[in-house]
Amino acid sequence: MEHTANLEPIQIGHWINGKLSETTSDRLSDVFDPATGAVSGRVNLASAGDVDAAVAAAKSAFPAWADTAPLRRARILFKFKELLDKNHDRLAEIITREHGKVFSDAKGEVTRGIEVVEFACGIPNLLKSEFTDNIGGGIDNWNLRQPLGVVAGVTPFNFPVMVPMWMFPVAIAAGNTFVLKPSERDPSASLLLGELLKEAGLPDGVFNVVQGDKVAVDALLAHPDVEALSFVGSTPIAEYIYTEGTRHGKRVQALGGAKNHLVVMPDANLDQAVDALIGAAYGSAGERCMAISVAVTVGDVADELVPRLAERARTLVIGSGLNGAVEMGPLVTSVHKAKVEGYIATGVEEGAALIIDGRGHKVENHDEGFFVGGTLFDHVSPEMKIYKEEIFGPVLCVVRVKDFAEAVALINAHEFGNGVALYTSDGAVARAFSRQIKVGMVGINVPIPVPMAWHSFGGWKRSLFGDHHAYGAESIRFYTRYKSIMQRWPDSIAKGAEFTMPVAK
Ligand code: NAD
Repeated sequence: MEHTANLEPIQIGHWINGKLSETTSDRLSDVFDPATGAVSGRVNLASAGDVDAAVAAAKSAFPAWADTAPLRRARILFKFKELLDKNHDRLAEIITREHGKVFSDAKGEVTRGIEVVEFACGIPNLLKSEFTDNIGGGIDNWNLRQPLGVVAGVTPFNFPVMVPMWMFPVAIAAGNTFVLKPSERDPSASLLLGELLKEAGLPDGVFNVVQGDKVAVDALLAHPDVEALSFVGSTPIAEYIYTEGTRHGKRVQALGGAKNHLVVMPDANLDQAVDALIGAAYGSAGERCMAISVAVTVGDVADELVPRLAERARTLVIGSGLNGAVEMGPLVTSVHKAKVEGYIATGVEEGAALIIDGRGHKVENHDEGFFVGGTLFDHVSPEMKIYKEEIFGPVLCVVRVKDFAEAVALINAHEFGNGVALYTSDGAVARAFSRQIKVGMVGINVPIPVPMAWHSFGGWKRSLFGDHHAYGAESIRFYTRYKSIMQRWPDSIAKGAEFTMPVAK
């Protein structure tokens, strides 16, 4: 695919009540093409009034939508899935143009989103309840899972299609109406999702998008008509969202940042471990919450592993994500590029061994693109900032430990607990690792163990605030309220009041 720049920046608005909102806010934010550095769009940043309009649309659509039979809701999602398949490339191209990741990776992101839609199509079965016949005295007991009302989603820049689709397909399938606040850095894909949902037959107001920043998020957090909020983003904001949202009486799940380790045991297949580390550290330029940013080498394994990683990091093919030969695209903005380069400088000051330095990386004909080359540090230690903090760029740190127990203790002591991987050929070690590690998602000889749509996604420790993980069975619980019903019919009514605790008779 040829990389052509947009000539004129496009205007990016909201999607409210089944249509694009034409109003232009007095607050706009630039959206960039990260491969060229050019401004490709200007996104409206919502006011509290815009948020009110979206929530009001969602609120008025709720009663009829909640009353629509789950099977009919599912049929709209089946149609939506068909339209996503048809528009797969189009969505992926929008992602690459605003995020920068390579087109094949963007397609993979769309696929993982579609899988959640496929899961949500099973909603009639997923909402089926439990029933106990004749608990005593002609009484039956069963439960319902009912929708909450208007629910909101606030999403990060790094998966502009997949992360919103962790949320809204299940939320609306369960009978809720939805307001999405996507990242202001790559907002366009959300509008196409709105159009496709409408084309699939979704009633107006069931799915809405407000573009914006903290102003929009704060308005959602305080809004009395928003029942629940799902958030995915960095840990400081996740913690803020959880604290503020619950303070306002809302149900909140807030998924935060990460520092994911991959442990290489001395008995690991090194060819596989090298491939795994290179793909998981530098794929999407490290801008994944499941990226591997720390290689934990056990025993002497680093002596052979580090030179092999260095060779591969040095020869990564870097360029525009629309070029099919490219392995790694640019970072999302120049601000983020400067932050990542700042971390590399910090690592040097802290005394880590900088094996490959990606700073100042230039790509031919893309002088202004936000590129950082693959970066590799060896001899990183746990007290260093480059070990403790999430860099969210193509920077891989090698920490050398003496044995398995030290590897487990290191990972368990880290404040984040999103994903982790172990490379070994010993089943007993793998089993012990899976059981002992304090991390939400574990890969054994799998570098990026993102659970499938019918399992659930989420980290431990400061990688998740709240009680529920995203999608899968956990999301059905998050987006519904549990109600238990106990029922008795006429022949047993009017036997007089009972003053003792009801027990089965
Ligand atoms: P971010 O926290 O900066 O932004 C996320 C969302 O919060 C955006 O919609 C943004 O507009 C909003 N926001 C930003 N600042 C805010 C504030 N002060 N008040 C209220 N809202 C605010 O995150 P990002 O840079 O877009 O995304 C990258 C981060 O997301 C990384 O930390 C990454 O690990 C994390 N992430 C986590 C997961 C996960 O599942 N745990 C998945 C993807 C990304």
